[in-house]
Amino acid sequence: MPSDSSQTTRNWRVAVIGSGPAGMYAAEALLKRGAAVDVFEKEFAPFGLVRYGVAPDHQKIKRTQAVFERTLNDPALRLFTSVEIGRDLHVEQLRDHYDQVLVALGCPSARDLEIPGERLENSVSATDLVNWYNGHPRFVTAAPSLRTQRVVVVGMGNVAIDVARILLREPADLASTDISSSALDTLRHSQVREVILLARRGPNQAAFEEKEVRELAALPGIVVCTDGYTSRRKTPKSIFLSSFPRASATPLEHKRVVFHFCMSPKEVLGTTSVQGVRVERNTLVESAARMKAVGTGKFSEIECGLLVRAVGYHGVAVPGIPFCDATGTVPNAEGRVLDRQDGEVVRGMYVTGWAKRGPTGLIGTNKSCAQETVALMESDLDQVGPLRDEQDIKQLLGEKVRYLSKEDWNQLNAWELSEGKRLGTARRKILSHAEALAVLDH
Ligand code: NAP
Repeated sequence: MPSDSSQTTRNWRVAVIGSGPAGMYAAEALLKRGAAVDVFEKEFAPFGLVRYGVAPDHQKIKRTQAVFERTLNDPALRLFTSVEIGRDLHVEQLRDHYDQVLVALGCPSARDLEIPGERLENSVSATDLVNWYNGHPRFVTAAPSLRTQRVVVVGMGNVAIDVARILLREPADLASTDISSSALDTLRHSQVREVILLARRGPNQAAFEEKEVRELAALPGIVVCTDGYTSRRKTPKSIFLSSFPRASATPLEHKRVVFHFCMSPKEVLGTTSVQGVRVERNTLVESAARMKAVGTGKFSEIECGLLVRAVGYHGVAVPGIPFCDATGTVPNAEGRVLDRQDGEVVRGMYVTGWAKRGPTGLIGTNKSCAQETVALMESDLDQVGPLRDEQDIKQLLGEKVRYLSKEDWNQLNAWELSEGKRLGTARRKILSHAEALAVLDH
């Protein structure tokens, strides 16, 4: 096979851990510079956030997948999916088999609020919710209960806006996307009429992009309004937000999204399941780096049946890879992994994407981030010693794991697209490794 022969003809061998945008942009840059690349992915399907993070009604952004497919089909790249590094293969084994190891794990987990009641039923992270509606194999059964009129989303970034939009928009409008069919079914029976977005700071500090809110406001049957908070300092964002009406206290005529400012959640209320959230009014105080939210001691309660925390993603530790719990990232100097924050360089180990710089930026931001790391990897090539283990990783893997290759993925991808075509959707997602095997064996 061409991919195998390239492994022996090219003498710069790199293992990339993770096939999301960070890993795929890095693979592209490595291939251009002449490396042979093996990409390892924990899930059966590649492409991480593009498949499981981008909202299903943002199909234009999901088209980045076509770019990644081209990279994937380069003869000098091999793909091993359903392989978890740290469980199926140890990082040390990769370091024995490859000249360099590139960590592109992203930030697959969510930050916590660290308040009482956070673990009640129907208190969920946006990360889990987004994975659920995107058909992530580990979250297919993680449906929240939508038997409530009001949802509170903590945080005011683009993820919070995505969640509000998917919870409120007409399910019929989602039917032609690649949303998970079971999530769509749950949304069809949803009673949600109102989503309250809670920002701990003011309109000027809101993290979303205006175009995301414009999209929300343009949807039929959804009204966007605010709590009427006005900023003393006028910026484009506060002027934009003041163009929306103040939410009325009268019964809801339409579904609506309400932006609440200067409020921090202090406790999720309920006995077994969420019944509300206790919030504290904040005031804003100028501090050296940024405006800080400071509690005023004035509390109130908001009734709701679902609480979503959309306060940012967080990395996860993998055995053998240095990790800083406070930042949720891999300690590094511009992409060279360090054994701890401000520590020594771990020779031959690199990092890119959210695992390197934290969970900010758009899909495309990973391209320049990857180029920076890959340039360092190339400049370090003269430090690479002989491989400690010359055998192909396939032999080691084959004995342990039923991994899938890129040829398998190409077949699964074609099946998803043709099934989607038959059903009138963008793609019909395969929801588990077992289902993927069944499709391959058919
Ligand atoms: P984000 O942009 O960092 O927003 C996080 C929000 O959570 C902020 O409003 C933040 O407020 C708030 N927050 C953090 N800690 C909090 C706490 N303890 N209590 C209350 N609020 C808290 O993160 P994100 O929305 O998860 O997005 C991640 C990245 O993906 C972003 O770069 C985003 O642009 C990108 N993304 C893009 C799209 C798109 O293009 N359509 C869609 C989704 C995601 P403070 O500012 O006060 O900290």
